[in-house]
Amino acid sequence: MLIPQLTRGTIAPDVLVDLHRLPGAARLRTSAGATTLGAMVSYTTLIRDPTAPPLLRHIAQGITGGPQIRNQGTIAGSACYANPASEMPTALVASGAIMRIAGPAGTRSCGAADFFDGAFTTRLAPNEALVALDLPASTNSPDYGYCKIKRSESSWPIATATALTSGNGMLNLVLGAAVTRPVTITVPPEISTLTVATIDQAVEHQGAEWWADELADIGYRRRVAIVALTRALASLQERIVKRDRP
Ligand SMILES: Cc1cc2nc3c(=O)[nH]c(=O)nc-3n(C[C@H](O)[C@H](O)[C@H](O)COP(=O)(O)OP(=O)(O)OC[C@H]3O[C@@H](n4cnc5c(N)ncnc54)[C@H](O)[C@@H]3O)c2cc1C
Repeated sequence: MLIPQLTRGTIAPDVLVDLHRLPGAARLRTSAGATTLGAMVSYTTLIRDPTAPPLLRHIAQGITGGPQIRNQGTIAGSACYANPASEMPTALVASGAIMRIAGPAGTRSCGAADFFDGAFTTRLAPNEALVALDLPASTNSPDYGYCKIKRSESSWPIATATALTSGNGMLNLVLGAAVTRPVTITVPPEISTLTVATIDQAVEHQGAEWWADELADIGYRRRVAIVALTRALASLQERIVKRDRP
């Protein structure tokens, strides 16, 4: 999003930092099942690398804007921009990604669930950079659910939902685009219906707010959120059933 903003003249930074020369910045590495994404790993890298976590590959394949966006847009950039409508943040939260952050005081780590603070805000200080993202081995599971609801093929999503199995066998559902920051709802694997009350409660308890922009108001997003979550959940449950079928 930096390039369109520079082109429109809506921002005029004094300094631009190019992270390409950070060692390993454009690399995706796997070790003992876990995956590390350098700060410059793009959507195209995920699409082309068969070892990339299946959920992240799936989301990367659906990013709109054409090859230029997929070649240039990075997973770290999407996280740092923290646009509520961006698709990767829910996947990073559902995966339990750890954000590796570097700044003048050294390096530190932050869980994805804490990293996203609100609409267009993160826990990054102005003088810090996100240098890598660590994804646990569980992210490599072929069992996932993802749903995005948008007005047209090329528009930003109104609601997104990601579903993954968590380490303790429960299912993590993460809502995005309809809320200011990703909201997690943990449910048992056999659950068949979600309620609006459960979603409202999770939004409130996790310090998020319903999100409105020119695409949809809060009331509409709130109604659509349950549809996105239900579809992502059904998709995950379907994959689990298929895998377990003899
Ligand atoms: C036409 C178009 C269509 C798009 N469609 C979709 C879509 O369908 N789904 C979707 O999810 N997204 C979509 N996007 C967003 C896009 O996918 C990018 O992910 C997102 O804009 C980030 O791009 P970038 O990596 O170039 O980051 P940049 O634009 O370079 O950076 C974004 C912000 O984060 C900061 N930043 C970037 N990297 C770091 C870092 N490592 N450390 C600290 N700060 C950093 C920058 O300074 C800047 O403020 C679209 C964008 C466009 C222009």
